Amino acid sequence: MEHPVLYIVVPCYNEQEVLPITAPMFLNKLKELAEKGLISEDSRVLFVNDGSSDETWNIIRALARSDEHYIGISQSRNRGHQNAVLAGLMEARNRCDISISIDCDGQDDINAMDDMVRAYLGGCDIVYGVRCDRESDSFFKRTTAQGFYKFLSAMGADVVYNHADYRLISARALRELAKFEEVNLFLRGMVPLVGFKSTSVEYKRTERLAGKSKYPLRKMLSLAGDGITSLSIKPLRLIMGFGLIVALLSFAGVIWAIISALGGHAVAGWASTTCIICFVSGVQLICMGIIGEYIGKIYLETKRRPRYIISERTWDK
Ligand code: UDP
Ligand code: MG
Repeated sequence: MEHPVLYIVVPCYNEQEVLPITAPMFLNKLKELAEKGLISEDSRVLFVNDGSSDETWNIIRALARSDEHYIGISQSRNRGHQNAVLAGLMEARNRCDISISIDCDGQDDINAMDDMVRAYLGGCDIVYGVRCDRESDSFFKRTTAQGFYKFLSAMGADVVYNHADYRLISARALRELAKFEEVNLFLRGMVPLVGFKSTSVEYKRTERLAGKSKYPLRKMLSLAGDGITSLSIKPLRLIMGFGLIVALLSFAGVIWAIISALGGHAVAGWASTTCIICFVSGVQLICMGIIGEYIGKIYLETKRRPRYIISERTWDK
């Protein structure tokens, strides 16, 4: 079998401090993997400049001039990490056999790539990099991040625990991922939906080598929101459940009002007014819940996701 062409996809946003340190590390890894006979010499490190306002793009262009294994693309403006990764993966999908997406700050251990490529050669299409501990994170980042995974799964959005966007995806899985036309991107939740044989590889995550985090709490919260709303319509279901409970209470209220009126404890007109309010608000909430169900369906339809994905054909090979 021919050695697979690997594209390492690296999103970069205002990373002028760290890029000169990590770029040679990626290149060395590429060469090492090629020497071990795991990947082809035609493999590349693909940088995606996410509309940086500093020297990042100039650094990438200089890298590309210095060695043919470095290549880069630039987004027209800052679109965020998820979009930058997708842009790189889509650019790579028809040129490579495998892609590995990784942050450019050196936090993810590049040595896990050996195991990822071996897992691919062993027949997996998707290999998730999973961090085995969070010692290097501050207490705050660790608890918020773990809360994030728990909350996501409680809300019905299934993601691989402790996996960020460090993963290997084969070209055929990338071509299927391309058919997910949604704009609201949450790659961690979308990639598992593509299916195919997958596995995970553990690695240790360390401190950023230089520069500052581009993911403040605000961006993490917005990512969590995207994750939930793009993968699951459970929040709409919760409204429906809440509506039903309130409706039940309201109907109990109706009965209570009638009993009070019959017992002669209420002023004239009170019971009928209360009955109407309780009844109507109960009915309204149920109706809203039903509308929510349909909005949920419309929402999922507008994503125009692929309806089936074929992994093998007997006449192929
Ligand atoms: N990033 C990006 N666009 C953004 C924010 C971040 O491409 O708008 C990139 C960034 O350059 C890095 C990766 O996404 O390669 C992860 O960001 P960071 O390391 O700042 O996040 P953290 O590891 O602190 O969660
Ligand atoms: Mg980082």
